[in-house]
Amino acid sequence: RRRAATLRAAADPTSAAAMAAAVRAGAVTAEALTVAALRRLTAAEPTLHAFLTVDADGAMAAARAVDAAVAAGRRVGPLAGVPLAVKDNLCTAGVPTTAASACLANHVPAYTATAVSRAVAAGAVLLGKTNMDEFGMGSSTERSAFGPTANPWDPARVPGGSSGGSAAAVAAGVTPLALGTDTGGSVRQPAAHCGVTGYKPSYGRVSRHGLLAYASSLDTVGVLAPSVADAALLGRVMAGADAFDPTAVADAVADYSAALAAVDAGGGAPLAGLTVGVVTDERVAVDAAAADAVAAAVETLRALGAAARPVALPRLPSAVAAYYVLAPAEASANLARYDGLRYGDRGAAAGAATVGELVAGTRGGGLGAETRRRILLGTYALSAGYHDALYGRAQAVRAAVAADFRSAWGGGVDVLVSPVAPAAAPLLGAGDASPTAVYAADALTVPPSLAGLPAVAVPAGVCGVTGMPVGVQFVGPAMADALVLRVAHAFQGVTDWHRRRPPLAATVAAAASAAAAVV
Ligand code: GLN
Repeated sequence: RRRAATLRAAADPTSAAAMAAAVRAGAVTAEALTVAALRRLTAAEPTLHAFLTVDADGAMAAARAVDAAVAAGRRVGPLAGVPLAVKDNLCTAGVPTTAASACLANHVPAYTATAVSRAVAAGAVLLGKTNMDEFGMGSSTERSAFGPTANPWDPARVPGGSSGGSAAAVAAGVTPLALGTDTGGSVRQPAAHCGVTGYKPSYGRVSRHGLLAYASSLDTVGVLAPSVADAALLGRVMAGADAFDPTAVADAVADYSAALAAVDAGGGAPLAGLTVGVVTDERVAVDAAAADAVAAAVETLRALGAAARPVALPRLPSAVAAYYVLAPAEASANLARYDGLRYGDRGAAAGAATVGELVAGTRGGGLGAETRRRILLGTYALSAGYHDALYGRAQAVRAAVAADFRSAWGGGVDVLVSPVAPAAAPLLGAGDASPTAVYAADALTVPPSLAGLPAVAVPAGVCGVTGMPVGVQFVGPAMADALVLRVAHAFQGVTDWHRRRPPLAATVAAAASAAAAVV
């Protein structure tokens, strides 16, 4: 019986915490968990294309090292033996890191991002690198130079983006944990579109060292997971000061798991005393499924003991415009290094006669259309004569949005709740016609990013038209990550949305056990 339970744990990718506990107890080996995850990956990839690189050999070696530590009675971390997928804009020493850009197709870093090395130090086993929109610029993972990722709930639909490969991998049950990055919604929106949990930490809570920069004042490293409990486990491991990133703040990191345990021990009203602000703004259009999910979530939070009331954020509708000036402006500076001289494959420009032709050829040939659009927009916004009118005004709007949030907190609101996206996942190709319509769909994820706030996206409903998952997000004051995780965990304690799995997850699991039976 014990062996059967052990094998079930190995095959069940819905709890990272349970997997790690089984490894630490010696009930299952990290090697067995890794083999099972690789089999699920093999079964899922023809449908999904969630991964750009699979490091099977590295994963097996890392798993055996964890098993050796367990066997020797050495201390192993809270993620012992848990298979981990990592977005391909986080550097991994010896493992290709492309940011889904053709110009980095052959880039193999010499060092590992702090977020990744901390996860690995805690026992996580890096399985591979996930697909994304090039450099994080997009909302669908279709802006990858290496082809799109499909949504596990419906392969005709996008998984969201830019961390779409990570979200799809977790939703399909390939790995129980994945790292993503969130500049303006890239962890939360794919989490919502794929029906998984997405945690975007406060700006500065997690080191950005080793993250290929998109917009440095907005970039954060976050988690995609089957539950808030698992997201908190990895979030805690990554958090804290880092000598390699001066913007990683030194404040003590709260014990997220203890905050969640208090909810579990708290009886019937774990959110008593908290006030939830419901973001209400008729100027930001959301569809019925998104509105219904928020309304139902508010009732759930009330049942958990929270008070709820509407909150207006007056500058909310200006946030997208400001973001799409500021993020491209920072990107235009950050991406200047991909010039074929410092970084970036020269490609067809290798034989250029002049330096100018080499740089122009490298950038023109190696960067995708959306990336080039952002560089052009950002360069324009920073140019003499337009700097004050565009960049300066956008900075003023950013400050005003942050002030709106501060007055909500000052007015007695503890956390805010809103939809993640205005609608569920669209069909592949639906965003091709209008980049600005795609940008507009970031209306609710961008404001917390501009203010550097922590946010957790959780599955909270289903679209009645498409059957696709719909998410809501909880947003809190800067550095109140533990509070936001606590509220989201309490929500998951009394709801089942996060337990729904796409049919593909069962198919993948069955194919993986069939493969195991053959071996
Ligand atoms: N969709 C937004 C953009 O394209 C957010 C992306 C992100 O968070 N990396 O910029």
